[in-house]
Amino acid sequence: MLPFKLVYHPRYDLNLGAHVFPSQKFRLIAEKLVSSGIADASDFLSPEPASDADLLRVHTAAWISKLRTGTLTASEIMKLEVPYSKEFAEAVWLAAGGTILAAQSALRDGFGSNLSGGFHHAYANHGEGFCAIHDVAVAVRRLQADGAIKKALIVDTDVHHGNGTAAIFSGDSSVFTISIHQLNNYPAHKPPSSVDLNMPDGIGDEEYLAALIPAVQRQLDRFQPDMLFYIGGADPYEEDQLGGLRLTKAGLKSRDRQVFEAARSRGIPLATALAGGYARRVEDTTTIHVNTIIAAREVAEKYPQATERKSQGAGSAGS
Ligand SMILES: [Zn+2]
Repeated sequence: MLPFKLVYHPRYDLNLGAHVFPSQKFRLIAEKLVSSGIADASDFLSPEPASDADLLRVHTAAWISKLRTGTLTASEIMKLEVPYSKEFAEAVWLAAGGTILAAQSALRDGFGSNLSGGFHHAYANHGEGFCAIHDVAVAVRRLQADGAIKKALIVDTDVHHGNGTAAIFSGDSSVFTISIHQLNNYPAHKPPSSVDLNMPDGIGDEEYLAALIPAVQRQLDRFQPDMLFYIGGADPYEEDQLGGLRLTKAGLKSRDRQVFEAARSRGIPLATALAGGYARRVEDTTTIHVNTIIAAREVAEKYPQATERKSQGAGSAGS
């Protein structure tokens, strides 16, 4: 049994068929967590789809309506780069509800993990790069609307720049965004995050961690967020088909652990979502995402009381 909750739904599958995005990975991650004895049935929470009120704090009514009714234009589908289906829409609604639920669990337990989400290329009025609804932005806005948090720090470790995140929170002093990504990669247009860590092609564990960890520590101290939202990318992995960095599995796990430790040791709750992972072998992508949960467990066990201060101030929102 884990000291925090995992949020999962069998309908997280994006229904993409033979696509570079392995949309069966959500199920594989959940199964592996159970079969390897890391989690049991009592560790899982099942999300509801996000409500219209939740989505409309981030997205335009026109975009939500198009997604719901399947009336995207051909150019909108091209930008999204995935085929539209009812199942796809259901999955992204559930993913947004899942990240809200993970964040609410984090208020209570210090840590909460959605086994989907991290759709960081979604903008307010359109989708891009497999991302239709920005689940993390939806969760930040929901917790702010509930009065559960005021300030959020988003740390995005997907190998691709968090363009949707940067655009949505541009000029918003209540949300600080850090994106560490490969500079010479998708998306072509990278609106500025609060901090962009532009990695050159082919760098490995050591240089990557030397850039990321001090930046996270510095902003935790300066910005003093009420919650850290972590977008855990599996695609900086050396065997990734859509990434050009050279991180090892051990390096990726160390990344997760060090970010979690930085937040947890300061008493700051952590909500995590997955993100991209396009390894040649889907087993590698699954392992990297499972390792994120193992890293969280290790850190939660090392700092069992560290979130008391924050959770006492968080009020009643941790339902
Ligand atoms: Zn990516």
